[in-house]
Amino acid sequence: MAYAIPLWTPPALPIAGSKDQFPVRRIFCVGRNYAEHQKEMGGDGRETPFFFLKSEFSLVVRGGDVHYPAKSSNYHYETELVVALNKGGRRIDVKKANDYIFGYAVGLDMTRRDLQGEAKKAGRPWDFGKGFDHAAPCAAISPVGRIGHLEKKAAIWLEVNGKVRQKSDLSMLIWSVPETIAYLSRYMMLAPGDLIYSGTPEGVAAVAKGDKLHGHVDGLEDLKVAIV
Ligand code: MN
Repeated sequence: MAYAIPLWTPPALPIAGSKDQFPVRRIFCVGRNYAEHQKEMGGDGRETPFFFLKSEFSLVVRGGDVHYPAKSSNYHYETELVVALNKGGRRIDVKKANDYIFGYAVGLDMTRRDLQGEAKKAGRPWDFGKGFDHAAPCAAISPVGRIGHLEKKAAIWLEVNGKVRQKSDLSMLIWSVPETIAYLSRYMMLAPGDLIYSGTPEGVAAVAKGDKLHGHVDGLEDLKVAIV
């Protein structure tokens, strides 16, 4: 049996300290997972986590040039801790969820906020606001085998053109990483290669062509992006 068109290789992320790559299957994203960001987006208190997906072809591997997207004039950054899964499963026990983590990375959930806002108002899906080309820059993955699991307290921040725009700590996550994995796995079967963008802290704002973004989570490889 042959394929009717040439087969493509799956998008893959580099692994810090290794020549191996991490093939990416799906990109899940958690919405509103830091209290102060939830407030700035109009929420009030702890709500059930909700998710959306980006295509794995939205990845911008290890950052670099990110194209300002078509059809938007309100293009936002969202700095996030990204979790990479090494195996799949359903109904994963929260106490065992760490066993499903291959490693961690710094990612940007780039968003066409204007299109997302229109979709929200119309009760339509968010895909055009969230799942477009170059919407998911991600740094190299730091494997758990090398760095262990992230401490509950770890700074997450973003600088735009050298000025701090987002600054928080992983301890401020409303739903922890194991809770997020356990919750998501009750709704669909998770698989090796899946990424989870775990949500962004407060301070989201628009960027313009020429802006330089520098994302950081303590213990991980930084993510640097130029908007072109
Ligand atoms: Mn996000």
